[in-house]
Amino acid sequence: MKYNIVLAGLALLAALPPFDAKATPAAPAAPSAEVVWITNVKLVSPEKLDRIEPGSVLVKDGRIAAVQRGAGQRMPAGARRVDGQGYYLTPGLIDSHVHLHAVPGMSVEQIQGQRALAEAYYRQLPRSFLYYGYTSVIDLALADNKVVDDFRAAPLHPDLFHCGQPLVMANGYPMAFLSPAQRFKTFPNTIYDPAQPTEVPPDYRPQDHTVQAGVARIKASGAVCVKTHFERGFGQERKLPVMSPAMYAEVGATAKANGLVLVTHANSLEAQKFAVDGHADVLAHGMWHWGSLDKQPGLPEEIRALLERVADERIGYQPTMQVLAGLDAYFQPDYLRDPRVRKVVPGALADWFATPAGRWFKEELAEGASDHEVLASSEVVLQRLRRVVGYLAKRDANFLFGTDTPSSPTYGNLPGLNGYLEMRQLLGAGMSPAQIFRAATINNARAFHVDDRVGTIEPGKQANLLLMKHSPLEDVKAYDSIVTLWVGGRQVEREQLAASR
Ligand SMILES: [Zn+2]
Repeated sequence: MKYNIVLAGLALLAALPPFDAKATPAAPAAPSAEVVWITNVKLVSPEKLDRIEPGSVLVKDGRIAAVQRGAGQRMPAGARRVDGQGYYLTPGLIDSHVHLHAVPGMSVEQIQGQRALAEAYYRQLPRSFLYYGYTSVIDLALADNKVVDDFRAAPLHPDLFHCGQPLVMANGYPMAFLSPAQRFKTFPNTIYDPAQPTEVPPDYRPQDHTVQAGVARIKASGAVCVKTHFERGFGQERKLPVMSPAMYAEVGATAKANGLVLVTHANSLEAQKFAVDGHADVLAHGMWHWGSLDKQPGLPEEIRALLERVADERIGYQPTMQVLAGLDAYFQPDYLRDPRVRKVVPGALADWFATPAGRWFKEELAEGASDHEVLASSEVVLQRLRRVVGYLAKRDANFLFGTDTPSSPTYGNLPGLNGYLEMRQLLGAGMSPAQIFRAATINNARAFHVDDRVGTIEPGKQANLLLMKHSPLEDVKAYDSIVTLWVGGRQVEREQLAASR
């Protein structure tokens, strides 16, 4: 498996004009005027998982106006009654790691050259997240004004929170994957470390690229978080500059002073140790690279000790298992025949995936290896990750549900569906359905400081609600049994959100 493409989906940014945060004010959709009384329904809210009981929820002005538990409440005057008999009601889900601008399956040139396909994908994008219950998404690296504006202008769309533009080490990951001429335009929010001099464009002013200046730009863009990286690169080319502990400490302190959450890309033992030592709030990936311990059976003591700290210090942990599993899609002959694919992407794009041009990424991944060999090597990496996730699950760590959709140009990371598949991976790695439910609701809301707005069924919160046939505490299959959603109080039947019916 070739790793220099994993997480290099940001290279797609190369072809885009620089992102201008000021151009995209966060304007919530007008709330529905209708008053709705959802009653006779089993309430499943993460702050009260010990009490799954029938109750009622009053939705008014796009918010949850009242929650009543127990039977026999009287319907408020003027409300429309929705009988939830036999159904479960949960808060909408939060995916805290998405990349809205990237089109799964498409290279930069293909996005530019196949505008009609890309535009159709972007139109469906907010609906596909909703289709699987995601009423909030957090984009960790905003890039394209038009994509963000269109997403927010859609009649129905998830709430969009973001980390603004990532704070990138000058000439480090991920900008180093672009040409020297392009990288500073694509990643304007770089930081320059005088202790690690590096080549910069003639008009680049290091004084504009301090930690303070970078975090200030992120704050001004309306972000809730700061995204940064500890990544030396992949394969043989592991020479990218990374932050010093002192600089990382300054990033953390500056983020905190600005009320921003520090999210760090770290998928190796070395990177996660660096981030934990530096008091990261959130680790944006699971640990699948163990360095010299890669071939060790079980869970080596050094890793176990680090995971103990992750659990004890309540560091937010996004396993992002579909980063790896989503690459396997090219080697699984049935993937594109899965009817769920056409629920979340337009039929024309799904047809294109199956063409030789649409399968270009397969050659990049395989590098001449057979399908069987690729799947076998992928399984080795996934097994390492499963051991990490399983251990953290036993310790009931502070899991945050984030998919990294799409993490690379793979068509195996489709919006909405990727979340569902991630849940199945997490379940397979040893997380319980309740842990997954909390990770995708209250844990995400608290970690990103948006728990005053979303994450539970409580009065005052946005009326983002899911009505489903099965209990999410029994099996993650429940999320594929959603029937009706309320998105900021607006009711929609799930099937109306599908790309094709
Ligand atoms: Zn990502």
